[in-house]
Amino acid sequence: MSESPPIVPAQDDRELRDALAAERRRYALVEHAANDGLWHWDIVNDKVRFSPRWKELLGYAEHEIENNINEWLDRIHPEERERVLSALRAHLEGLTSHFENEHRVMHETGVYRWVVCRGLAARDEHGKALEFGGSLTDVTHRKVAEEQLAHRAFYDPLTNLPNRALFLDRLRHALRRATRRKDYAFAVLFLDVDRFKVINDSLGHMAGDRLLVMVARRLEISLRPGDSVARLGGDEFTVLLDDIKDISDATTVAERIQKELSAPFDIGGQEIFTSSSIGIACSTTGYQRPEDVLRDADTAMYRAKAHGRARHALFDTAMHAHVLRQLQIEAELRRAVERDEMFVQYQPIVALDSGAISSVEALARWRSSERGLVEPSEFIPVAEETGLIQPLGRWVLREACREANRWRSKAGGPGCGLSVNLSSKQLSQPDLANVIAEVLADTGLPAELLQLEITESAILEHPEAAATTLKRLKQIGVRLSIDDFGTGYSSLSYLQRFPIDALKIDRSFVQHLGVERAIDGDDARIVRAIVMIGRNLGKQVIAEGVETANQLQLLRDVGCDFAQGYFFSKPIDGPACQHLLRIARRW
Ligand code: C2E
Ligand code: MG
Ligand code: MG
Repeated sequence: MSESPPIVPAQDDRELRDALAAERRRYALVEHAANDGLWHWDIVNDKVRFSPRWKELLGYAEHEIENNINEWLDRIHPEERERVLSALRAHLEGLTSHFENEHRVMHETGVYRWVVCRGLAARDEHGKALEFGGSLTDVTHRKVAEEQLAHRAFYDPLTNLPNRALFLDRLRHALRRATRRKDYAFAVLFLDVDRFKVINDSLGHMAGDRLLVMVARRLEISLRPGDSVARLGGDEFTVLLDDIKDISDATTVAERIQKELSAPFDIGGQEIFTSSSIGIACSTTGYQRPEDVLRDADTAMYRAKAHGRARHALFDTAMHAHVLRQLQIEAELRRAVERDEMFVQYQPIVALDSGAISSVEALARWRSSERGLVEPSEFIPVAEETGLIQPLGRWVLREACREANRWRSKAGGPGCGLSVNLSSKQLSQPDLANVIAEVLADTGLPAELLQLEITESAILEHPEAAATTLKRLKQIGVRLSIDDFGTGYSSLSYLQRFPIDALKIDRSFVQHLGVERAIDGDDARIVRAIVMIGRNLGKQVIAEGVETANQLQLLRDVGCDFAQGYFFSKPIDGPACQHLLRIARRW
């Protein structure tokens, strides 16, 4: 330091000089060894000394910084300078017992470093500050780590978009504004990338991640300034549209986003096409909690998806009623099996060469005591979502196998085949093959008469697990078919990877066959192509949903093997089905 601290009066000059020199050496050693920069400000003479380490922390050599307090103060970040100066003033005036302040100072390279500056003033007997000294510590690393932690708490690391917590916070502010100002309204869009899971599973997680990042960037460019977009997780994104004039503002943005996302994505040289479903909730509904807005936008998104994807839907109170109904269905469905409310209907499948029934498909039915006959399209999705499909599916399997075996033993002969639907949840059950072997053993139905129907998407949901399960099922001797073939989003390579016996062409392709104008339309071409694929790969082809003689003729013409549909018979109860089999009806 320029001024040494008061020392004990020495007896002579030499002693005094020695003591002084020793003191300086001690101090220089400490100063040199310290990791912190040291500073001393002689206020009376306005002279400052910065230690070499102090200068080094800011990237300067000894001679590059003058002994002037402004060398420090001028380098403080403009946003923090006032705060530092007032803390300095407060300490010098004796208002604080010590000085400690965290702020940014500019480094020689032009970037700011975070430092902690600590100091203490020495005062005269009136409390007036005479000198002021202290240390400077670089805390940039800690500060950066803290900022990263804070960032992680509020941002999604993959896309760098705000996360759910930050989005809910912004939504809370918007809600507050909406209650204060009558002329202010906002909307929340809830967006889900259609079939993302299939893309992710078939192309790999790295490709899936890249797609999500690209989606995030496209969302950002579709918005107006002031709007904000967040990633809630998975393939779900939300958008807060601030200060909208009316609902059409929200639907316009939804359309713009959907258009933006429908352009192909280039992922590793491969063109990926996708679409998105969007649900919209508006502040005009009078929400209190941000979670409720999000929930309703989510509900609307599900509605959009259910209507065939790539759409947007506006939340309305009818949807809320629908959600409640789903919840009630779930509660009642839990008791349906015990209450004996479930039963099975059978729909014949006809071999097109002989015109005879070759097998029947078992279809679950629920006659609820409270709501009458409930459609599978209503209760199967609920059962899948809640896991109830496991016991329910097992019950249908056992019931249908028992019934089919009874017909076989009554009629004699090889018996008619039985198709049973498996949901994706059942397919991912590791002991599925054992369960099925046990049911076959208990009911006596020969394994080769049982055909399990699985959808493409169920297989592709967990392709590895599915491969193992399907192999084990084949070992038991049951047959496997792909249900609703042609509606999944997949490459056809899985047809060879998995031991599949038959393809069931989805009803949507058969529906318009035989209608005059559509004879040579796309659907006819698709049906013909599927029959061809089946033939080339050695798989049988079954057409679903045949309703007219015309459709039947077309299917015979293209060489389809089997057909099923209202033209032959609607799904019917066990005894009626047994009757059809007994009279050996032919078409
Ligand atoms: P799916 O397996 O594709 O079954 C065929 C559906 O098409 C049945 O509907 C059947 O009644 C209907 N259908 C058959 N022929 C025609 C026709 O000519 N015209 C029309 N318009 N429809 C026809 P259902 O019984 O309502 O079943 C719907 C879906 O529910 C089934 O589609 C299947 O995916 C699922 N499902 C039914 N029972 C079960 C079950 O026990 N387990 C599982 N996991 N799913 C089941
Ligand atoms: Mg089926
Ligand atoms: Mg089907």
